[in-house]
Amino acid sequence: MHGLHFDNRFHSLGDAFYTALAPTGFANPHLVATNPSAAQLLGLAPGALESPEFLAWASGNATAPGSAPLAMVYAGHQFGGYSPQLGDGRGLLLGQVRTRAGLLDLHLKGAGKTPYSRFADGRAVLRSTIREYLAGEALHGLGIPSTRALAIVGSDEPVLREQVEAGAMLIRMARTHIRFGSFEYFHHRQRPDAVRALADHVIATYLPDLAAAAQPHLELFRHAVHATARLIAQWQTVGFCHGVMNTDNMSILGETLDFGPYGFLDAYAPGHICNHSDHEGRYAYHRQPAIGLWNCNALAHGLSSLIAADDLRTVLLEYEPLLLAELRRRQRDKLGLALELPGDAALIDDLLALLAKGGIDYTLFFRQLCDFVPGAANTPLRDLCPDRAVFAAWAARYSTRLETETRDAAARRAAMRRVNPAHVLRNYLAETAIRAAVDQGDYREIDNLRRALAQPFDPADEFARYAAPPPDWGRGIAVSCSS
Ligand code: AMP
Ligand code: MG
Repeated sequence: MHGLHFDNRFHSLGDAFYTALAPTGFANPHLVATNPSAAQLLGLAPGALESPEFLAWASGNATAPGSAPLAMVYAGHQFGGYSPQLGDGRGLLLGQVRTRAGLLDLHLKGAGKTPYSRFADGRAVLRSTIREYLAGEALHGLGIPSTRALAIVGSDEPVLREQVEAGAMLIRMARTHIRFGSFEYFHHRQRPDAVRALADHVIATYLPDLAAAAQPHLELFRHAVHATARLIAQWQTVGFCHGVMNTDNMSILGETLDFGPYGFLDAYAPGHICNHSDHEGRYAYHRQPAIGLWNCNALAHGLSSLIAADDLRTVLLEYEPLLLAELRRRQRDKLGLALELPGDAALIDDLLALLAKGGIDYTLFFRQLCDFVPGAANTPLRDLCPDRAVFAAWAARYSTRLETETRDAAARRAAMRRVNPAHVLRNYLAETAIRAAVDQGDYREIDNLRRALAQPFDPADEFARYAAPPPDWGRGIAVSCSS
């Protein structure tokens, strides 16, 4: 495998932070999906992912030159309770690669048992790797920080979930796999030296500008809190529900990490719970902002040996105003409001209430709103709304508000189409690709979706079908954690 320039920085932290071990390979592996834009980012030659060497190391049967696989240890708060011992139970950090986009982790998910597997099998199934592969491309296409996938490798190895499924592996790329829970692990084990080493490592490797600050660790915490607030504002704006916002799934650099039973909203439903196993709705769509803060608070505990409590509190107080400001700014953009005027918040909130009450499709409504003409009937938009009188009243207010804008209508429409996607990765779209792959061994729809998700704002005509709201069978797909 040529062209990958490994620079394995994490390894220098020492073996308190990980267990070095080789993957457990699959017999008879085959390529399911390859991501050319990810390959390009890594500086790989076209065709490199189709080579036998790539298949060998992507299936855990060989080690790429320069790669030094290891399982990272961490802990985390899962559904509110502290789990003192977690870690890479079914994935390995293969190493870190120098790229155009900076240092990137390569992680092989589904690579077999590790010391952190507990009673589980260390494997992933095809269905879940497809979901993760598509999610990374969907968020990336929308401009939202996320891990991405380079490839999926399939096998005929049986893996037992609710039923027997085919095992698969996914190569994930992330800026880092260091999680909030990585700090919690060492803090709660009374290892302040290791907390410090990890914080210093993150600063030196990813945030070197912070090293010159009066209190670098405090600035690291601030960076994590701000990045988390911004990230969640972006999730809310596109209707993305993560599903398992445990602190072990929160990247210290604020990238979306660890896709399980995630989902994009179809109908706008603030209380939507995408994770079938989340019985209390802890991670419901409208609770994500508050959970983000809860998680930052857990991180604050994890860093409390390095940073004074008052300073931690000061930074935690910055979370909510930043998230709200980011959210409002993005909501204004969705409505095409370039000026910021009193009354905008009410106009936005009343629209969201209208969408919630009518069970109106979130993505479809905002895409259609791009074509809104002040004072006109706006029939296609109106027809999305079960209560025409409520829509008419809101549309009249919106028309009046748009008259105060200085930007012309064409420019407003173009700007709105750059922030209101034509399509998102709806569950039924992912499910269609999964069914074809799992039932028929037909992987074409995975690649179609990958290409479509890269262009959500200005899609080619061939992708027009992905704008459709879910068919009846695709409305209430329940996704569980058993991946
Ligand atoms: P997740 O809910 O996927 O974020 O995983 C939570 C924890 O369970 C992590 O420590 C994972 O490594 C571990 N885990 C999840 N699935 C498996 C599996 N099939 N085999 C081993 N460990 C797993
Ligand atoms: Mg996880």
